Amino acid sequence: MKIRIPATAKAILDALHARGYEAFVVGGCVRDSILGRVPADWDITTNAKPEEVKRIFSRTIDTGMKHGTVTVLVGTRQHEVTTYRIDGKYSDGRHPDSVTFTPSLTEDLKRRDFTINAMAYNDETGLVDLFGGVEDLQKKLIRCVGNPLERFSEDALRILRAVRFSAQLNFSIDENTIAGIVILAHTLSRISAERICTELVKLICSDHPEYLKVAYEAGITRVILPEFDEMMKTPQNNPNHMYDVGTHTLVSMMNVKPEKILRLTMLLHDVGKPSCRTTDENGIDHFRGHGEAGVKIAQDILRRLKMDNATMQTVLTLIRFHDCRVLPQERQVRRLMSRTGTDLFHDLIRVQEADILAQSQYRRDEKLQNIIAVTQLGEKIIREKQPVTVHDLAITGKDLMDAGVPEGPEIGQILKAALDEVLDDPAKNNRDYLLHLAARMARR
Ligand code: ATP
Ligand code: MG
Repeated sequence: MKIRIPATAKAILDALHARGYEAFVVGGCVRDSILGRVPADWDITTNAKPEEVKRIFSRTIDTGMKHGTVTVLVGTRQHEVTTYRIDGKYSDGRHPDSVTFTPSLTEDLKRRDFTINAMAYNDETGLVDLFGGVEDLQKKLIRCVGNPLERFSEDALRILRAVRFSAQLNFSIDENTIAGIVILAHTLSRISAERICTELVKLICSDHPEYLKVAYEAGITRVILPEFDEMMKTPQNNPNHMYDVGTHTLVSMMNVKPEKILRLTMLLHDVGKPSCRTTDENGIDHFRGHGEAGVKIAQDILRRLKMDNATMQTVLTLIRFHDCRVLPQERQVRRLMSRTGTDLFHDLIRVQEADILAQSQYRRDEKLQNIIAVTQLGEKIIREKQPVTVHDLAITGKDLMDAGVPEGPEIGQILKAALDEVLDDPAKNNRDYLLHLAARMARR
């Protein structure tokens, strides 16, 4: 087995070897190379201690000295170089309590989570695969290194990582490993929100976001995202739908690009439905107000997961308007755009399209045609730089003050009224007209 190591990582291996140390590329990059996937990063494992690594390389960053990790810069690339180590227990769910350096590569590989992640390689020794990683790659299997119960007890995050890797690689999870997951899923409650969030985002941004269902069936979402379990239990007896809310959510994620904002939005777009469901006299389910209700619940979830604020706000805006259907009339499209902003307009269209594609066939073509027409109008509005926000108006707050409107809430009210007229008819976005309008309003 020969793996093509990029020149920068090779330079680091060579420098360590030249000084008598062992060094290998390890983990995800070995796995991905064997699979023919492009590795995200090339991590290195070595018996050199962190201080020794720092002495050898001129440009380094102390990434996690306590855990033995030094980042080495070669040209513009960075590689994490970590000393062979044995991890202690993760009692706080964040970091191993203690880390012991070891001279043994075997010990370092043993501490790793799954067989496919526990392989090392260099050109001199070739592949080091002590736990059947290659075989599991061939069998498309996620399997713990060693006893699953022990490994999940050391660090419960591995429970979620198993599903994350299975979603990224389209692998199944080994029988014993899944049995361990089911038994210990509840212990994910001890893991920090940040670590959960990272893995959850990787799961839903993978090629198979629908594997979230595996997490549901194994009792994982019950702990980290109980709102999803509610969705799985909420039927939608309505001609527009063919799935329960949870399954609709999974299918909607499959129908949108694997970008964090879009996938998170689809994950949570209908989170308001379980609490808004009503059934009419014909047995048809309705979910009035679920967009707004969902914004509140989604905000709680994203805060709980410690999602960064910018991502959270964007996702919440998309959820708020996901169900805001407009007819293909310029005026309506301008109004929608004035609420989302032009930047988010395209994302909102993608969200609405993914939503439709996860519904029943009922009037689907009509819904999709509508989306296409709205998109075209939106593009025309953007291309023509039509005014859609207060900032696009031909007058400013300062103009109004110069014209004698006192500073205060009235300024905002007038600008809003001006925008309202301009959204109906962009031709009215001229200074004279709007100043007249303002004067009329100020007199009232
Ligand atoms: P990605 O492509 O997502 O970065 P990766 O396999 O590199 O995948 P990382 O989370 O970057 O995953 O971890 C790098 C390596 O460190 C893994 O391949 C695995 O060997 C080991 N590892 C990471 N987290 C854990 C953990 N919680 N328990 C045990 N080993 C782990
Ligand atoms: Mg990695």
